[in-house]
Amino acid sequence: MQGLQMVDLKRQYQNIKAEVDEAILNVVASSAFINGPDVKHFSSELATYLGVKHVIPCANGTDALQIALMALGLEPGDEVITPSFTYIATVEVVALLRLKPVFVDVDADTFTMNIDAVRKAITAKTKAIIPVHLYGQSVDMAPLLELAKEFNLPIIEDNAQAIGGTYTFPDGTQKKTGAMGTIGCTSFFPSKNLGCYGDGGAMFTNDDALAEKLAMIANHGQKVRYYHEMVGCNSRLDTIQAAVLRIKLRKLDEYCSARREAADYYDNAFANNPNIITPFRPAYSYHVFHQYTLQLKNVDRDKVVDLLAEKGIPSMIYYPVPSHKQNMLKDFGGADYNLPVTDYLNTCVMSLPIHTELTEEELKYISDNMNEIVNQLSK
Ligand SMILES: *Cc1c(COP(=O)(O)O)cnc(C)c1O
Repeated sequence: MQGLQMVDLKRQYQNIKAEVDEAILNVVASSAFINGPDVKHFSSELATYLGVKHVIPCANGTDALQIALMALGLEPGDEVITPSFTYIATVEVVALLRLKPVFVDVDADTFTMNIDAVRKAITAKTKAIIPVHLYGQSVDMAPLLELAKEFNLPIIEDNAQAIGGTYTFPDGTQKKTGAMGTIGCTSFFPSKNLGCYGDGGAMFTNDDALAEKLAMIANHGQKVRYYHEMVGCNSRLDTIQAAVLRIKLRKLDEYCSARREAADYYDNAFANNPNIITPFRPAYSYHVFHQYTLQLKNVDRDKVVDLLAEKGIPSMIYYPVPSHKQNMLKDFGGADYNLPVTDYLNTCVMSLPIHTELTEEELKYISDNMNEIVNQLSK
C-alpha cells in the first residue's frame, strides 16, 4: 500500500481546499497580516468552544507555556512539577526561565501524571504544576485540582496534544481539557489535532488579570503602545493562521470523532493479541487520540518498526528518551531520578498512523500487518 503517513495533512487539505484557499486569499488581499480581524474572531470562537473567558493567541505552543510561567511571576529556583514522560517543550521552558523542573512518574495505563507522585513531590519551593494531556488523554484532573487547591498552587495545563478532549468530574460535570487549570496552553503546529499551516499557539484562562498579563507579555510587555511595563517577548499568531484555524475549529469535533473511530478500529483489531496493549480509556477522559500509542510485550520493538516500514507502514516512538535523561536537563538531577514507569514506557511504547482521513482499507492493512509481525516476532 502506497503513501501511508502518520498524519495526512495533504488529504485533509484536499477536503477543505475551497474554504481554506478563499480564507487565505482574503487575508492576502486585505494585507492585514498581523493582528487582522481573523485573529480576534478566532480567539473568541475558541473561547466559546472551550468554555473559557479568555483566549490569548501566540506564536507556538512552547511560547504559550513560557508566557504562562512568566505571567505567574515565578522566581529563579522555584520548583515546577511536571511529568518526565512528555514532549521536551513542557520542561524546556521551565529550565529556560531558570526555574527547577521536578519530575514525577506517570501511570502505566493512562501515560499521564500520577497524582500521588505529585503530592509527594510538593515542597515549600513548589510554585506550579504542569499536567500534560498526553496523546489526547486527559489527566485525572479532579484529584489534581483538589491537591492544587490544598497547597494553593497554580496549574498550567499542557493541552498541546488534547484540544477537543473532555474531562468528566466525579459529579458528572464536564469540561474541556485546557479549560480546568489556572492557565491552559496549546499548540497549533500543523500535525496537532487543531493545526494551522505553520506555527501557532494559544493560552486560555478565566482570570481577567492573568489574561491581561499574558497578552501584555506576548506583546513586549506593553498595554499601551511604546510604554513597556515588564519584560515580555514577541509572540503572535499570524492572521493567515487564524483564518485557517477558524475553518478547522468548526470541524474539530468531527476530526476528533474520526480519530476516535480509527482508534476503535485498532482496539478491536488488537483485542486478542496478548503482546499488544491498546490505549486505556478511563471513564473520565474523552480521549481525542492525537497519537494511537500502544505498548508492546515480548517483541523487539526496533524489529517491529523495521518490518512495518518494509510494508510501507510508518510508526513512531514518542518519545525515545524521557526528559529527565536528556543532556539538556542534566543539571536538574537527571540520573538521580527514579521514575520506573517512565523508564519502562520509553522501552515499549509505539505509535501507529492516526489522523482524520484514514480509510477502513488502510486501517485493515496496518492492523493486519501489525498483528502478523508481532505474532511472528513473539514466537
Ligand atoms: C507540540 C507540543 C508542544 C509545543 O508546541 P509547539 O507549537 O511545537 O511549540 C508542547 N507540549 C506538548 C506536549 C506538545 O506536544
